[in-house]
Amino acid sequence: MKKRVKVIITLIAITLLLPIKAAAVTLGEYEAAVEKYTKELREKEAKIAKGKEEIAAVKKTIAETEDKIAQAEEEIEKLQAEIEKCDKEIKKKDAESKKIIEYYQIENGNNAYLEYIFGATSITDMVYRMSVAEQLTDYNDKVMKELKALIETNKKKKAELKKKQEELGELKKKLESEKERIEEEVSGVEGTVPSTKGQIELYQKRVNYYRSRGCSSNDIIGVTCDVPPKVTPSSGGGNVTPGAIIGENGFRFPVNGGRISWGYGGGHKGIDITRGCGTPIYAVAPGRVYYVGNGLDNYGAYMVLIVHNVNGQLVFSQYAHVQPGIPVYVGQSVDTNTVVAYMGSTGYSTGCHLHLEMSRNYGWAYNGTYYQYVNNITSPWNFVPSPY
Ligand SMILES: [Zn+2]
Repeated sequence: MKKRVKVIITLIAITLLLPIKAAAVTLGEYEAAVEKYTKELREKEAKIAKGKEEIAAVKKTIAETEDKIAQAEEEIEKLQAEIEKCDKEIKKKDAESKKIIEYYQIENGNNAYLEYIFGATSITDMVYRMSVAEQLTDYNDKVMKELKALIETNKKKKAELKKKQEELGELKKKLESEKERIEEEVSGVEGTVPSTKGQIELYQKRVNYYRSRGCSSNDIIGVTCDVPPKVTPSSGGGNVTPGAIIGENGFRFPVNGGRISWGYGGGHKGIDITRGCGTPIYAVAPGRVYYVGNGLDNYGAYMVLIVHNVNGQLVFSQYAHVQPGIPVYVGQSVDTNTVVAYMGSTGYSTGCHLHLEMSRNYGWAYNGTYYQYVNNITSPWNFVPSPY
């Protein structure tokens, strides 16, 4: 009783509130998908190219910065050498002056200066000789002062260069991390390129296929073009899955084995087949996949809809509660050997089973924006052979 109430609520929900919004596709939608992914690929390629340009530019700036750092280093070394040279010169001059002063102060009784002074041949010569010594020390003092000033200037220059060099080092670090960031970004985008290319290939293949089947952009695949072939007594033939039960009309029971856990009627709009989770589910007849997904998520959750051609009338089979990994795509041509889903327990379900529902003559109708459920449900037993 409880189950029945649920079903009734569910049916109301389906009819009034939950039209499928994405059932069936036009060839144009697949063409649009090709365009969309192609555009995406171009954008990705442009991003990669731009990123690579940026990397090259940053690398160039890094190299320039390294040159500047090396130049600064060279100048610092030059200044250091200059400072040392001046230092030596000062010491030399200082020693020289000291010697001259020593001579001048006559501290040593036996020194060359005195000998030099007293060696004068006349007073004039002596005065001259004394003035020479004085001038010499004065000159040394002057030179030393200049040298000291030069050292100060060079030290200042050196400090400035060191600071500049440090700043360049910081800049280099920043540039390197920026380069790494862009490289990561580029390789991230590059990583997604194969999947985009795969999507283009996939949809292009479908577009090519349906074009070869005579579909044009506005055609609804399986309905207004590539209409499934009529189900005939022989359509269940060929490479038949072992264990398949095939009726005289060409329809088959959708699983191999299994039992009917809930029959059709009395509020239950389909038949429930139980055979364990993951059991392969086959199309009940040749047709075109019309819908795949979980558009009726309050009810059947993941489901597949297939459209069949029964003497020119479109008949729909619906496989509900299946597992999410559905192995077919919308528009795909299927037959009674095609696994279209795996038995699951998604949606309103308390255990793994298949809810098989069938409807005649546009059970799903286009309302201008989307495909809406229209209650034209019929007993699956009108088509599908009983396993018993
Ligand atoms: Zn059911």
